[in-house]
Amino acid sequence: MNNPAANPIARRRPGQETTLVRVGEVVFGGSEVVLIGGPCAVETREQILTAAGQVAAAGGRMLRGGAWKPRTSPYSFQGLGPEGLSLLAEARAASGLPVVTEVLDPRDVQQVAQAADMLQIGSRNIQNFPLLKEAGASGVPVLLKRGMMTTLDEWLWAAEYVLSAGGRDLVLCERGIRTFDPSLRNTLDVGGVALLKQETHLPVVVDPSHAAGDHRFVAALARAAVAAGADGLLVETHPDPPAALSDKQQSLTPDEFRELVASCRAVARAIGREL
Ligand code: PEP
Ligand code: MN
Repeated sequence: MNNPAANPIARRRPGQETTLVRVGEVVFGGSEVVLIGGPCAVETREQILTAAGQVAAAGGRMLRGGAWKPRTSPYSFQGLGPEGLSLLAEARAASGLPVVTEVLDPRDVQQVAQAADMLQIGSRNIQNFPLLKEAGASGVPVLLKRGMMTTLDEWLWAAEYVLSAGGRDLVLCERGIRTFDPSLRNTLDVGGVALLKQETHLPVVVDPSHAAGDHRFVAALARAAVAAGADGLLVETHPDPPAALSDKQQSLTPDEFRELVASCRAVARAIGREL
């Protein structure tokens, strides 16, 4: 008798291999540490096309960029919406990079699923159960970020909503949690990544950008993530960070991104992986 509550799909069973999640030709959960780069938000045609070219040139395998942005203030830049999706599609065609972008509203899942290669569910929506179920039923791979106050157990239950709705291609993304110390934007739970690699068969990637909140520390956190066994990195880059409409402090210049790639590649090779 299979009791799903006692045997959650997200949990690794004894001897179970890591699940390979394919997004186009990109494979999460294998020997490659998948590098995803791009701006926090899609801002203009020129910005996203330039960013995509720079990410591809540095060895990035996927492009990120938000068309809908979950902002603390309703007066902050909210993203371009559907126009942002079209610009991402153009950037994908020009660069050859598959695209991951955030969906905020269950009513937008179909539209985003048609335009994007992977749906991102953001930290603020970790327990938006209607959204998790809609994304799981979409047939498109999902990147599920950890909530800023979510335990590993709660995160795996959120993953269970995606999986039990029919989603098979699910990748988890640690992006830092809120702790007592506000010195960095968040605290990257590196130990949590190592533990999750035991507890779940799902690939686990790390977003060092939202954890650090400051471009000076992004590469160090990225190296720590690779050393801890992360299956990929999600990094915010911008052609001109001071001009970014969101998250400019943590966005890397093309030069900083290239340096991050080189140093993370050295760590990946030291543990027998590629990047
Ligand atoms: C983002 O990736 O730009 C984002 C909003 O991330 P998070 O949901 O982790 O805050
Ligand atoms: Mn951001």
